Amino acid sequence: MDHFLYRDGALFAEDVPVAEIAASVGTPFYLYSTATLVRHFRLFDEALSWGPHLVCYAMKAASNQAILKTLAAEGAGMDVVSGGEYARAKAAGVPGDRIVFSGVGKTEDEIRMAIEGGIRQFNVESEPEMAVISRVATDLGATVPITIRVNPDVDAKTHAKIATGKSENKFGIPIAKARDTYAEAARLPGLKVIGIDVHIGSQLTQLEPFEQAYKKVAELTETLRADGHEITRLDLGGGLGIPYARSNEAPPLPGDFGALIQRTVGHLGCEIEIEPGRLIAGNAGILVSRVIYVKEGEGRRFLILDGAMNDLIRPAMYDAHHEIVPVIEAEPGAELSPFDIVGPVCESGDTFAKGRLMPPLADGDLVAFRSAGAYGAVMASEYNTRPLVPEVMVKGDQVSVIRARPSYEEMIARDSIPDWLATPSNADSAAAE
Ligand SMILES: *Cc1c(COP(=O)(O)O)cnc(C)c1O
Repeated sequence: MDHFLYRDGALFAEDVPVAEIAASVGTPFYLYSTATLVRHFRLFDEALSWGPHLVCYAMKAASNQAILKTLAAEGAGMDVVSGGEYARAKAAGVPGDRIVFSGVGKTEDEIRMAIEGGIRQFNVESEPEMAVISRVATDLGATVPITIRVNPDVDAKTHAKIATGKSENKFGIPIAKARDTYAEAARLPGLKVIGIDVHIGSQLTQLEPFEQAYKKVAELTETLRADGHEITRLDLGGGLGIPYARSNEAPPLPGDFGALIQRTVGHLGCEIEIEPGRLIAGNAGILVSRVIYVKEGEGRRFLILDGAMNDLIRPAMYDAHHEIVPVIEAEPGAELSPFDIVGPVCESGDTFAKGRLMPPLADGDLVAFRSAGAYGAVMASEYNTRPLVPEVMVKGDQVSVIRARPSYEEMIARDSIPDWLATPSNADSAAAE
C-alpha cells in the first residue's frame, strides 16, 4: 500500500496534488511519501517484535538525508556498503552503534573511518578483509564486532544481476568453509566474532529461498556454538520484493517474512537484524515526468518523455517493469492504445516500456512511474549532460525539495581546466617556439 492515490481524477502524493509540485519544481523529479516510508519500516519492525531485533535500512536503495532522517527517527539502523554511505548515515544523525557495514570491497580507509566513527558490526565477506579489519582495529586499539557473511548456495529465483546467494556469486564465504573461517577470525586480534550474516539477493518474490538459507544459518549457528563461538546476532539480510506490475501475484509481506524468521531461527535466542531496502523505499517514491512529444513511427507510436534512462535506469539495466500512469486520470471509458515509452537519451536502450497500453496522452501531459523510490534516484547520472534528477518529499500537506536540480552552470563548474588549457595564449606561444 502507498500514499499515491487519485482524488477526483488527479494523482496526489499524500495531501498534495502531484501536478502542483510539477508546476513548481519542473520535471522530471522523484517524489517520496513520508507516510509510506514510515509505514513500511514499521511493518518490518512489528514483524520482528517477537524478539530482540534491529531493522537496518539498506540505504543504497535511496539515501537522501531526508529519507535517512525520517527512518532514523523511527528507530531504524542503517546498512551501509561504502564510506560515502557511512558518512551519509552519520550526517543524518544515525549513531555508530546502529550502523552495519556490508560489502565485498571495503577499503582500509573505509574500515578505519567506521571504527573511528563507531560501528555496530562489520559484515565480513572474505578472509583478506578480515585480516585488514583486525590490523586496523589493533592499530586503533579497538576491538570491533564482526559477523561473517556466508554464501548458502541457494537460488534466490530473481534477476541474475541481483542474485547474490549462489556459489558463483562474489558475495560471502562458502558456507562449507565457514568453520575454518570462524576459527581463523577467533584467532585474530581486534575482532569480536558475534554472529552470522546472510543476504541472498534482491526482489525475491517467494519465501522459499529465504527459508532454505535461514535453515542453513540455523544449522551453522549450532555447529559454530559447538566449536566454541559465541553466536548472539544473526543478520538475515534484505531482499523481500515488491509488486512492480499490478498483474503480478503479490509477493510475501513483511509479516510473513518475520514469521518465517521466527520459525527458522527464533529458537536460537539470537538478536535478529534484517536489511530491507527495496520494500521500504520502493513504493514510497514515484518518478514524475512530462510528455515532450507523441511521435508516430512505422507501425508504432512513441511517447517521448523528459525523463530518461539516466534518471531511472532499472528498465535498461534489469529489464524492470514500472507501472506508468497519467497524473490526470483519463475519462472513464477512455480507450487504451499501445505506446513505446522512451526518453530523449541517444541510445535505443533508453526505453521504459514497449507496446504499453495507455490512455490518450498529449504533449505536455504528466505521467508518473510507480514503485520508483528504490534504486531510482541513487542510480541516476548526468549522462547526456542532463541535470541530476531532483528529489522532493511530502508529509501530509507539506512539500520540500530535498535535492535541488543543478543548473547548467553548476554542472559545468564541477569540471576544472588543466593549466595547459587555461591560458588562451598557450597555443600561440607554442606555435611560435
Ligand atoms: C542490497 C542489499 C540489501 C537490500 O536489498 P533489498 O532487496 O533492497 O531489500 C541488504 N543487504 C545487503 C548486503 C545488500 O547488498
